[in-house]
Amino acid sequence: TYVVTEACIKCKYMDCVEVCPVDCFYEGENMLVINPNECIDCGVCEPECPAEAILPDTEDGMEEWLELNTKYSEEW
Ligand code: SF4
Repeated sequence: TYVVTEACIKCKYMDCVEVCPVDCFYEGENMLVINPNECIDCGVCEPECPAEAILPDTEDGMEEWLELNTKYSEEW
């Protein structure tokens, strides 16, 4: 799955939301998040993010962000 990270905080772009084929973006407290259970790992959103905030959860240090993305997206 892909996760939204720190650079998204207070970002006003919504480009990623528009391209996601499964609509798995949700609004967190001060950033967008991806619901890891709905993300199909297509990667379409990654190059669309002007802040380069979207990363695959396989990169180092992503556990914390994965947890946050899960938490915020499940509040909906
Ligand atoms: Fe949506 Fe694909 Fe991005 Fe997952 S990788 S959030 S399915 S656009």
